[in-house]
Amino acid sequence: MDIKITNDLNTEVLVINKFEGEQTSQELANTYAVEKDNFEGKLGTTYLLHTYGKIPADKILVVGLGKREELDGNKITEALVKTVKKLKQIKAKRAVVDFDGAERYGKYAVIGAYIGDYTFDKYKTQKDHHLDEIGFTKFNEADINEGIVFGQAMLLTRNIANEPAEYATPTKLAEMASSFEGLETKIYDKEDIKKMDMGAFYAVSKGSAEPPKFIHMKYSNGNPKKRIALIGKGLCFDSGGMDLKPASSMLTMRDDMSGAACVLGVMNALNKLKPADIEIHGIIAACENMPGQHAYKPGDILTAKNGKTIEVDNTDAEGRLTLADALCYACELKVDEVIDIATLTGACVVALGTAVSGVMGNDENMIKKIIETAKCSGEKYWELPMYQEYRDGLKSEIADMKNTGTRNGGASAAGMFLKEFVTDDVKWVHIDVAGTAFLEKPQGIFCYGSTGAGVRTLLNYVAKQ
Ligand SMILES: [Zn+2]
Repeated sequence: MDIKITNDLNTEVLVINKFEGEQTSQELANTYAVEKDNFEGKLGTTYLLHTYGKIPADKILVVGLGKREELDGNKITEALVKTVKKLKQIKAKRAVVDFDGAERYGKYAVIGAYIGDYTFDKYKTQKDHHLDEIGFTKFNEADINEGIVFGQAMLLTRNIANEPAEYATPTKLAEMASSFEGLETKIYDKEDIKKMDMGAFYAVSKGSAEPPKFIHMKYSNGNPKKRIALIGKGLCFDSGGMDLKPASSMLTMRDDMSGAACVLGVMNALNKLKPADIEIHGIIAACENMPGQHAYKPGDILTAKNGKTIEVDNTDAEGRLTLADALCYACELKVDEVIDIATLTGACVVALGTAVSGVMGNDENMIKKIIETAKCSGEKYWELPMYQEYRDGLKSEIADMKNTGTRNGGASAAGMFLKEFVTDDVKWVHIDVAGTAFLEKPQGIFCYGSTGAGVRTLLNYVAKQ
């Protein structure tokens, strides 16, 4: 789908808007949609009419934007998702969006167009219908271009996370990271990982025939006043390891690298977004968790990069082990802030469902800022508690800690575990997207599969430093 800026309303479908209680910009639509059919214009509703040659466009699609005074960017995104879904339903190929009264929201409109057009049909013989081109009037060029960068970043993330594990291996993620322009990227292989004392990450990777990769991408522009590390959990497939998951829980475990996919999408976008005077590191400890003959075992004691020892209580709590070493590595870079994003705990899904991501961290201001940024970015984040009692549950008789505690409060226990690998001088936020990154049925503006969770929030966050 091509996005362009245009003033030419001669197209297949002209998309116009209607606020509740107001007329539209087209007389035809006012006559038929508003006066004859009482189309109200509630947010996301649509009304299609043929123009029979009365204006240059073949059809007019009227899109409700709700009440004018309640309009915001995320509502425009939602309206555009509904718009594009309707355009696909009528098999339209070209459309021009000519909205009045929404001029500030070009970026949000373009993001909505990308979300609405998206389906993962790579492996289908019969492809889904997609738009060829969508034009926008009245929005400013910079906003449109920013929307394209965000939209394409989400697209990349969703594609990577939707790919089967057979394709999206640690090696493949490393190849992708190396191919991104404008970044300095280093890939560490199995031997390097051992040499770098990443005993926790290495242990998780041992049961798979796919070799692990530790990926470090670096973006730097101008005179960095702030240095941020973004870490994405990269379990390319999670079988649970020796503590094997039941079949039904394993079905979608190709999604266990959604955090990594998010970081790849964000890092690839930086060279186009060009945030100034900032250094951003993208870090992924990529591997599979499999029960092969060299697999790590319950009762094993692992030593993480910072020297702390971990008793393996459950091999299916592997994400935090890989993140532990990635967090140590990030802290050694002496960054100011670390954000990790991970499909980490089923407990987070139980607590918050599939629409809201859990947030924890060691700095209240940074947590607030992330939650606020998410809100403006169309994502829902909710802070989960971090108290000593959750850490007490991780006590081990034979090591510094166990990798799991009780089932209750499991998202917070995982947060307390990760905190052990963050140094006090680094501000840190952990985002648990176990429920939100991948949908088993459509929800809100998203179709089945990956949602690109975290991409909009993290891009807005690093762009606004
Ligand atoms: Zn697991």
